[in-house]
Amino acid sequence: MIYDYLVVRFGEITLKGKNKKQFVVKLEDDVREKLRGFPQLEIKRHFDDLEIKLNGEDSADVLAVMQRVFGIQNISPAIKVGTDLEQIREGVLRVANQENGAKTFKIAARRKDKRYPIHGNELNQELGGAVLNQCDWLKVDVHHPDLLIRVEVGYHEARIYGREVKGAGGLPVGTSGKVMLLLSGGIDSPVAAYLVARRGALIEAIHFQSPPYTSDRAKQKVIDLSKKLRGFGGKFVLHLVPFTNAQVAIRDAVPEDYRITIMRRLMFRIAEKAALQRGALALATGESLGQVASQTLESMNTINSVTNLPVLRPLITMDKIDIAQIAKQIDTYDISIRPYEDCCTIFLPKAPRTRPDRLHAERFERKLAINELVDEAVQGIETMVIDADTNEDAFSSLL
Ligand code: ATP
Ligand code: MG
Repeated sequence: MIYDYLVVRFGEITLKGKNKKQFVVKLEDDVREKLRGFPQLEIKRHFDDLEIKLNGEDSADVLAVMQRVFGIQNISPAIKVGTDLEQIREGVLRVANQENGAKTFKIAARRKDKRYPIHGNELNQELGGAVLNQCDWLKVDVHHPDLLIRVEVGYHEARIYGREVKGAGGLPVGTSGKVMLLLSGGIDSPVAAYLVARRGALIEAIHFQSPPYTSDRAKQKVIDLSKKLRGFGGKFVLHLVPFTNAQVAIRDAVPEDYRITIMRRLMFRIAEKAALQRGALALATGESLGQVASQTLESMNTINSVTNLPVLRPLITMDKIDIAQIAKQIDTYDISIRPYEDCCTIFLPKAPRTRPDRLHAERFERKLAINELVDEAVQGIETMVIDADTNEDAFSSLL
C-alpha cells in the first residue's frame, strides 16, 4: 500500500451550523477510542475532515475499524505531496498504479489555495493526460469511473486520494442523548437498536424475562445480541427485568385475548421508570405497523397511553423481509432465530385481540396490583455492562 493517510469525512454533521464543532469533537473522541489498538497513528482534526497519519499501520485494517463508526460519511486513503505540478503528477500516477483493478478513471482536482496558478480544469486535463499516457489499461469515464482520483491543492501541500469507501453514516453515538430500547430475543428489536444508535443515541437495552418459563439460553441470546450491538458504540448496558410475577398475575386475572395488551402496558410502565432512573428521554421498540396483533394502530394506542415518553419505532414502516436483511448485515439474524422462547411467547393466547380498547384494558388492570408489580420488577432489575469482545468482522458486510 502506498497510502500514508486516511481522510475521514463527516456526514450530516457538516449541516450542523454553530453546533458543528461539538459533533466533530465527539466523533474525534469515538475515532480515537476505536483506534486505540493502533499506537502509531496520529489523528488531526481539520475543519472538514479528520486526518489519520498511518505511520506504518495497515491502511486496510484501520479503514475496516473506521467503517463502523457512526457519523462518518466516507473515508479515503490518501498521499500527500508538494504543490509543484511535477510532484502532483507523480503522486497521481502512484495512486493510479495502486488501484489497478480499475478500467476507467476520472481526475477531480480543485485548488483550496485560489492563488495557485493552475486552475482545476487545467489540472484535470494535465493529470488525466499523464495517467492515459502511463497506464494503458485505463480509459477516461467522466460519468461513472471505476476510480475517481481526487486531488486537493492546499497552501503547502497537495492531497491525492485513492478509492473512497463508504462510512456507516448517521451521527456520533451519544450526541442525541440516551434511549431505553426494549430488546427481545427476536429479529426486529436488535435492528431497531442499530438504527436508533446510528442516529446518535446512546442505547441502553431492557429485556423482560420470565424464569423458570424462560431458560438461561433465552437470556444468553439477549446477551449475545447485546455483544453484537456493542460493536457500534462503546459499552452497552443491558437491564434484565424479572417479569414472571407480572406475567403470572396477568394470566390469572386477565381474559386471554387481552393478556398481550396488558403485558405490553406493563412493559412500557417498567421501561419508563427504568428510563427515567437512567436519564433516558425516550423508549424504543422493534414494532412494525400491522406485523402482529400487538402492532395495529389500535394496539399501539392502547399500549402507548401508559407512558408520556416518546416511543421511537424505527421499523414502523418497514417490511419484515427488509428488516431481516438489515439483521443479516449487522450479524444479529443468526442469534435472533435461535429457537428459545422469550417471555411473551409462553403465555401467548391463541387469538390475541387485534383491536384492543383502552377502557377495557384499564378495567382489566383494576384487578391487578399494577403499581406493586411495576415497582417489584424495577427493583429486581439486574444491570449488566456488556464489554466482551465483539466479532468486528461481522459488520463489514454492511457497507
Ligand atoms: P422482535 O423481533 O423485536 O421480538 P416481534 O416481531 O417478535 O419483535 P413482538 O414480540 O410483538 O414483536 O414485540 C414487539 C416489541 O416489543 C419488540 O420489538 C421489542 O421492542 C418489545 N419486546 C417484546 N418482547 C420483549 C421482551 N421480552 N423484552 C423486551 N422487549 C420486548
Ligand atoms: Mg418478539
